[in-house]
Order: sequence, then C-alpha cells, then structure tokens
Amino acid sequence: TEEFVAQGEADNTLGGLLLSPELFEDSRCISRSREYQLRKPSTFKPSPYLISKLRDYERRHLKCAHEAKKFSPQTNATEQDFGGCRFIVWMAISGLGNRIMTLTSAFVYALLTNRVLIVDRGLGTDELFCEPFPSTSWLLPESFPNEWMNNLGSNSTSKFGFLARNFTFTSSHNGYSYIDIMHSSDKDDTKFFCANCPSYLSSFPWLFMRSNQYFLPGLHLVPEFHDELDKMFPERQTVFHHIVRYLMHPSDAVWGLISSFYETHLANSQHKVGLQIRVLSDDPALLEVFPDLVLKCAQEKKLLPDVALNTNNSAVGNQISNSVSVLVASLRVVFYNRIRELYLNHPTTDGQQVGVYTASHDEVQFLNFLSHDMKALADMYLLSFSDTLVTTSWSTFGYVAQGISGVNPWILTKFDTTDTVPEYIKNYGICNRGISIDPCFHNTPQMDCENRGWTTDPGKMLPYIQHCEDVPWGIKIM
Ligand code: GDP
Repeated sequence: TEEFVAQGEADNTLGGLLLSPELFEDSRCISRSREYQLRKPSTFKPSPYLISKLRDYERRHLKCAHEAKKFSPQTNATEQDFGGCRFIVWMAISGLGNRIMTLTSAFVYALLTNRVLIVDRGLGTDELFCEPFPSTSWLLPESFPNEWMNNLGSNSTSKFGFLARNFTFTSSHNGYSYIDIMHSSDKDDTKFFCANCPSYLSSFPWLFMRSNQYFLPGLHLVPEFHDELDKMFPERQTVFHHIVRYLMHPSDAVWGLISSFYETHLANSQHKVGLQIRVLSDDPALLEVFPDLVLKCAQEKKLLPDVALNTNNSAVGNQISNSVSVLVASLRVVFYNRIRELYLNHPTTDGQQVGVYTASHDEVQFLNFLSHDMKALADMYLLSFSDTLVTTSWSTFGYVAQGISGVNPWILTKFDTTDTVPEYIKNYGICNRGISIDPCFHNTPQMDCENRGWTTDPGKMLPYIQHCEDVPWGIKIM
C-alpha cells in the first residue's frame, strides 16, 4: 500500500544493485520488487565498480549456465570444453543461517575469480529463494551426477587440501577439485586463503565447495583478492550487506509469510525492535532466566522502555498508539510469552505503547524440513526490518538479520550456565554493541602458507580484519 511505500526505499534497484524491474521481470518473485518498499533505505551505497561487476556476472551466468550440462567426473576437462566457462558449485549443508552466509561467500569468490556460481538442489534452496540472475538458472542441471558429487568429502583424492599439502601443488588433475571449508577443516584445506592459490585453482574448470563457515572475511587474507575487494567494497564491512541483498530473495511462498505478518503487526509502528533469542546451552535453568537477561539488556541500553511494575496497565491512559513494536524471534515461545506479559500487564514509564509479537515457534530445530525453514527465513527477514536489533552470540541466524538490515546489533553475552551469569555480567556486561555489521567467520584459517610449522593469527594480519565480539578466535571485517 502507499503507506508502506512512504516508509520504504524509493529506489527499486537498491542503489543499482538490482536490475530495474523493466530489465528483470520475474512474475514468480514478488519479493524482488516489494521488499525495498517495506525497508528503510540503507545507509550504505554500493560502489559503481561493484554494480558493473554484477552486470558482468549476469552476462557470464547467462552465457555459461547451460555449459554445466557437459560436466562428467570421468574426463580430464579444461575450461575450453565448457565454452571458456569455469564453475563453482555450492553444496548445501547446515542450518539456514549458515547456508545463506556460505552462498554469499561463494558468490563473492565467483566474482573474484570469474567463475559461475551453481547451487545444488539439496535442502530446498529452490523453494526458499528466487532465481537471482535474469533469464537463466543457478540450479545444477537435473542431469548432473548428484550421487557422485555428494560423495565428495574430506577423504576425496581431489580435495584441495590434499593437492595443497606441502604446498607442492600438482599440476595434473581431473579438471575439478573439492574445497572443504568446514569447522573441521585442517591446515591444508585452509591454504585456500594463501597467496598463489587463486592461480593454482584457476586451471580447474570445476570447483565443488562444501562449507558451514562464513569464509568471506578470509578472502581478504588472499593477497591476489585484496585490491579487487577494496574496489568492489570501499566500505569494507558492507560486503555481506550488499551481496545478501543482491543475491537472496525469498520465494513467493516465504514472501507471503513475511508480508502478511509485517502488514498486520509491524507496518504501523514508529520504531521496530528485533530480539533474536537462541539459547545454545544445555542448562535448562538458563532458559528460565534468559528472558530476564534479554529484557535487562534492552532496558539497560534504552532499546525498550521501562515498565512501572507496581502499576496495572489499565490504570494508565494517554498512551501514544503502537509506538514501538517488538519482534521476538526464537525457536521457543517462552521468551515471547514473558516479554509480552510484561508489556501487556504494566504501563511503560514514558507512556509509549509497546506491542510484542512473534511469527513462529517450532520449539526444536529440524534439518531439511521445508516448512520449518520457510518460517526460519521469514523470521530472519522480519528481524531485518528492525531499527534496533538484539542478537545472540554465535548465532548465524542473527548474523543474517543484521547483515540484511545493515543495523549494528547489541549482542547478548554468551552465558553457558546459570551459575556463571553474575560473574559474566560483571566482567562483560549483559550485552554489547557490535563493532561492525559484518558477520563472524567462526573457524578461521590456521595460516601457515609456507609450512613453517607455526601459524599466524588471521586477526592480526590486516588492520580491518579483527577478532569477533562473540567468538574470540573468529574474524570479521571492520
Ligand atoms: P545458528 O545455529 O543459530 O547459527 O543458525 P542456523 O540458521 O544455521 O541454524 C539454526 C536453525 O534453527 C535455523 O535454520 C532454524 O531452522 C532454527 N531456528 C533457530 N532460531 C530460530 C528462530 O528464531 N525462528 C525460527 N523460525 N527458526 C529458528
């Protein structure tokens, strides 16, 4: 409606990131043209260089995607066998937050190395997201040898880590390599982030990648990528922000969930606060105290108004209607119930009206269950409409919301057990402001590019690659 347009971004290309609807008409992707209308304009603008790289990429994808049908694991193929095209295949693995972050990382790798990003059909990518590139598809051809591909793993002879061992890259190969950037990857696998690796890998027309890590900050560590990344993203911390907005568009089914909830509960509030709560500890007692910790963070940092605990809500009048809406995103409903009751039963001390909402609560996490993932994706996008965000340490779910929105979140301290809560609050506080909008690369490479027998701390190599707020050994872009 017009009201939403008034709140949102007037430019339907997000500063040139997206092709205008006249050039990329896709009747099966409502979100591409609607999302910007609900969203406040980003404070970050994509660079003209990035925009030209994206347009080049779209042409390359259109030219090359059909060449993917020619792949066979048996041949010693070269780029020429595929019409001069090279590919990187993203293999779906892990939770949805991880998947969005690894897809985004793989796409930036494709931009840097002139490859074409192809995604495998596992875990419902096609049902969750629209096709991102005009007049073509990013899905693996139906005829692809999927079973063969799914058997690629950490023991495969074609694994990059084996080829890179001792840094004597062998030159003979089958035309493909398997890249493993997992939490369990070893020193050889992570030579992916070393100098010379790009030129070595450029002779492989096919790369197959499995990753559960947001490895994009690691690409800055590759000397060959350095200048290009800086040209594409002069505001370095915005890489995920721009690319996730370019690449990921919720499918019509998911967009239905997002837009109906938004219009009913969030559209008319003056200020939107997103609380992303994910308790990763096994201590059941922690669940009991967690809602209070979240509330304490929000009130201490003045993200939400205080309440007059001794007053019943009905006793107070003259409230401004619907001034703050709070979206509680969590697997468990207890958090929503507690926060909602507080604002329902007691007036706020500043007279603001706080509405508390939740879109879903499946209670437990499922893997490879489409309707569950659709709700999860809806929650991430609903969170990303927030003006203020509170996120949970370590959670890629929160990283995605923060990245899409471009809002620097307040990050809850990681509490493991109830016993340690007072001590942790004393030492670290309940929550702290993020240092940048970039997500965290949790399991960072152990940098030993020259096999010296000791590793360099990747958080100390470049001034703008710092350790994360929530994962001390992780790295993120400043
Ligand atoms: P992480 O484990 O927090 O890093 O995030 P992931 O997205 O990788 O995996 C968590 C999975 O749990 C998600 O994919 C969802 O399936 C589910 N999940 C976690 N938190 C929420 C939530 O707030 N809402 C919904 N709908 N699902 C959630």
